[in-house]
Amino acid sequence: MAELVPLPLPLLLRRAFLEYRREGKIFDLPKSKFFRGIPGIDFSVDFHGHRAATPLGPAAGPHGQLAQNIVLSWLGGSRIIELKTVQILDDLKIPRPCIDIANVGYNVEWSQELKLEQSLREYVGAAMLIEILKASKLLGEDFSPGETVFDMSVGYNLEGIRSPRVRSWIESMKDASAVIAALRMGLNGYRDLPFPARISDTISLSTFHGCPAREIEGIVSFLLTELGCNVCIKMNPTLLGAGEVEHLLHDVMGYREIELSPEAFAKDLQFDEALDLVPRLQRVAQVHGKHLAVKFGNTLVVKNHKSFFTDEQMYMSGPPLHVIAMNLVKKFREHIETSIPISFSAGLDANNISTAVAMNMVPVTTCTDLLRPGGYGRLIRYLENLGAKMREVGASTISDYVKRYAGQEAALVAETTANPRYRWERNKGMPRKIGSKLWLYDCINCDKCVPVCPNDANFVYEAPAAAMAYDNFELLAEGVRRVPGGVFQLAKAHQLANYADACNDCGNCDVFCPEDGGPYVEKPRFFGSLETYRKYAGANGFYIDFTPPVTIYGTVAGESYVLALDPPANRARFETEAAVIEIRLSDNQALSWEAKAGAAPPGVVDMLPYLKLKVLVESVGDPRRVHFANVVGLEEVIRESAL
Ligand code: SF4
Ligand code: SF4
Repeated sequence: MAELVPLPLPLLLRRAFLEYRREGKIFDLPKSKFFRGIPGIDFSVDFHGHRAATPLGPAAGPHGQLAQNIVLSWLGGSRIIELKTVQILDDLKIPRPCIDIANVGYNVEWSQELKLEQSLREYVGAAMLIEILKASKLLGEDFSPGETVFDMSVGYNLEGIRSPRVRSWIESMKDASAVIAALRMGLNGYRDLPFPARISDTISLSTFHGCPAREIEGIVSFLLTELGCNVCIKMNPTLLGAGEVEHLLHDVMGYREIELSPEAFAKDLQFDEALDLVPRLQRVAQVHGKHLAVKFGNTLVVKNHKSFFTDEQMYMSGPPLHVIAMNLVKKFREHIETSIPISFSAGLDANNISTAVAMNMVPVTTCTDLLRPGGYGRLIRYLENLGAKMREVGASTISDYVKRYAGQEAALVAETTANPRYRWERNKGMPRKIGSKLWLYDCINCDKCVPVCPNDANFVYEAPAAAMAYDNFELLAEGVRRVPGGVFQLAKAHQLANYADACNDCGNCDVFCPEDGGPYVEKPRFFGSLETYRKYAGANGFYIDFTPPVTIYGTVAGESYVLALDPPANRARFETEAAVIEIRLSDNQALSWEAKAGAAPPGVVDMLPYLKLKVLVESVGDPRRVHFANVVGLEEVIRESAL
């Protein structure tokens, strides 16, 4: 299984600049999906005393983990970015696949898969990338994104959060000067940009399921008083009570196959405990000049009734969670005696953001919906729809808009609960599968696998569509002898590949690919270094070393090869596990060979792997398309980028 290997900041920058200039995209998000504001509408909001240009953002999850994900969220219009949850146990092995968004939305992934230090660099790097994009005017003189707030998410218990490593991690997010200084060293043009050192001073707290009230209180007090952070307590949907959740899920919405976990309801924070806890913690926050908020909410633990994951339990999100969380917000507000800011995350999408914002919830964050076809490109519709609704009711600011709906919360929630779009009948469908099997090349080219990947790990490359007849060569003591070969068929010019260092095998692209096998498994998997290629290539992996002579390392069907190209000399050096063969590039004629020490006599060399590697190195290396697998080899120096 591949491990996530974050890309260095200069490479991310180089890709962003080159890709935008050549293809009008950044990390595969087309510029038509960048949020550029809506004339006459001010979406800005206050969050924990900070101004943010929109109330929208990714929920702590896959869209807030790697630097490119955070930038993609931001390009789509997110201005309150909840970063993926970090915790002391930063070498967890998350079962794979871990995301099943086929219809309802389930997962078994939770905190970051990176080491704490890596997460810190990703979050700081993302903040720097955003500053550079703003300063560069790459996106146009009129691009005015406004303020962005980064919100940390930490978990899961007091002992872990108080540990020196997590504590120092939080301190480093509050003052990232040292990390910024180190990252600056890799930059040229923007090395001296005044990057803000305070990346974040707000924390959304994720507690483990079953976390006792006193432990939650201890953690929040610690974060408010000793670490001087503003805190948002993420509440579990179990707070609504088993009876009410079951009624909504089964009777109202018809998700009868979903089985609740009674232990989760018994052990999680109880409603009355929350009503006591929140005002007490608000007083602590006030005394220390900090802000406290609550978030509805977390995913819902349910029993695993499917075969996608192997765990006994899984976490439900998506449309049914939306209805449960909206009802919980209503109940909480009806009973809590103080006024407390509420943030929201549960099945948010472009069609319900207007209601969530009308209920005065900030931020409103999304995850499941962004894992569906279109990915980050779906975000812009959220804000367009919200803007349209604001216009409809004559509001030009969010606070005006909220005022228009004052006193209507119960009606809004009732409308949501009755809305058939959240019901099982409307959400039981599965993505279409057409019964064909993916392989290394060619597919139906729907391109769904590119935007559904939160890490932008899948990419398109152009190859020569052709049927190439080839000969094999018998390697003899006196030279080589041509023997019958076959035909290497590439039906389409438009091909898909995977950048394995950015792929965590979550499985989401498999769910939405109409063909079987999973793009991240079957398509050529490119690694960013020889080291990761050697470690994780398995039966299908490639690495291109762009230092001349350009060399591709490839494992095809479990056999490893190396191909070095020397076009000026019209020669290639092809290394199989048994021999090294010199080949004339223009007609793929083997010229000479040498046996490898200790290897069995090679007999006939199969030229099909040679052709596969040759096509891959030439087409993936083609600089007309910019992606993670070739960006290191693109030599253009862009004056104003920090390369
Ligand atoms: S690999 Fe699957 S999802 Fe990706 S373009 Fe091909 S058919 Fe579509
Ligand atoms: S390429 Fe597919 S499996 Fe890999 S991270 Fe992206 S969506 Fe997940």
